[in-house]
Amino acid sequence: MPLLVQKYGGTSVGDPERIRAVADHVARTRRGGSEVVVVVSAMGRSTDDLLRLASEVSTSQPPRELDMLLTAGERISMALVCMALSGLGVEAVSFTGSQAGIITDSTHTKAKIVEVRGDRLREALGAGKVPVVAGFQGVSTERDVTTLGRGGSDTTAVALAAVLGASACEIYTDVPGVFSADPRVVPEARRIGRLSFEEMLDIAASGGRVLALRSVEFARNHHVPLHVRSSFTWEPGTWVQEEDPSMEQAVVTAVTHDVSEAKVTVARVPDRPGIAARLFRALAEAHVNVDTIVQNTSVEGTTDISFTVPRDDLALSMEVARGLAPELGSGEVTSDSAIAKVSLVGAGMRSNPGVSATMFEVLASEGVNIEMISTSSIRISCVVREDAVERAVRALHEAFDLER
Ligand code: ADP
Ligand code: ASP
Ligand code: MG
Repeated sequence: MPLLVQKYGGTSVGDPERIRAVADHVARTRRGGSEVVVVVSAMGRSTDDLLRLASEVSTSQPPRELDMLLTAGERISMALVCMALSGLGVEAVSFTGSQAGIITDSTHTKAKIVEVRGDRLREALGAGKVPVVAGFQGVSTERDVTTLGRGGSDTTAVALAAVLGASACEIYTDVPGVFSADPRVVPEARRIGRLSFEEMLDIAASGGRVLALRSVEFARNHHVPLHVRSSFTWEPGTWVQEEDPSMEQAVVTAVTHDVSEAKVTVARVPDRPGIAARLFRALAEAHVNVDTIVQNTSVEGTTDISFTVPRDDLALSMEVARGLAPELGSGEVTSDSAIAKVSLVGAGMRSNPGVSATMFEVLASEGVNIEMISTSSIRISCVVREDAVERAVRALHEAFDLER
């Protein structure tokens, strides 16, 4: 029998009625002749609620305790989904990340999966049961409970699909697929039928939060086809899989935006070898994921280095940079949280020069100032003011004719 991993996000299990609808779909999938492993997120916005609760209790939140707290959300969902399945006469059994054998490193709040032992899930499947796994969590090699970073249930699902040899991993969410832009910002955005892993990686990396970046990396590395679809309409959605060389590649596939980053500037550092190495090594050791980096041309032997980091890591990044400033010989370290990134992604960009020029012209005509630019072979990103980013997304979506 083919095996499907089905992941249900927060809104998909947001209330009792939704949980029953999910159970009903799982039961139907089984009747259709597939084995199913279910992965669930915490209900609705309960992860945000738990984070708020923590900050109401204390400004001191040891990462180990934060992880312990947040994993409670997914536990609630998994037990309730099992009860709903039981009510439909489907035998189901819930597993925490630890029980499912998701072993991670010990970087609390953004742990990386190092191994997946799916034995208990295989046993449950063998006994004709539906395993329901709490997403977003694992157990570290130090035997502590960990979480995989926001949106991490996607990663749990894809990792399980890979190790159990599932034919596909279905990601059920509140939109019917991956769109040419966030449909909340661009109502005319179009659903994309097929995407390559490469394009989806750049979409996820540049803010299209419909899939967590790690989950796409996992899917590409282990050749797991992904099907992103709606748990409200159940219609077919977007397939993300290996590139089909016979398909014509769109120059621009999607416009994405990201408001989750902040900019740090280390001003007036001496322009000599070793400065950037020292700074970015220290940030890496603090587990900060640095994104765009810009270094100015030097003036009188000194230069400014600016880079973007997740806002959640801003305080830590400032601490690291300020701590190093005297050693680096820098005058000052400043930060700016009111930034956002807007990006164009498309595999056809490789062979179509001029996309950047058009992008900059569109932003100029909207009066949007570009503060930083970075590119990959299939993506162009611009850092702009946060309050201008939605305008930029809509203008680019229209200029590149993406609704068609
Ligand atoms: P879930 O709780 O199911 O994991 P998320 O909120 O993490 O759901 O992801 C779904 C959301 O991603 C959508 O509601 C949508 O607003 C947002 N999104 C951003 N960019 C895109 C895009 N290009 N296509 C589809 N959805 C997108
Ligand atoms: N509940 C977690 C979050 O809100 C994980 C997830 O939903 O994927 O980030
Ligand atoms: Mg998500």
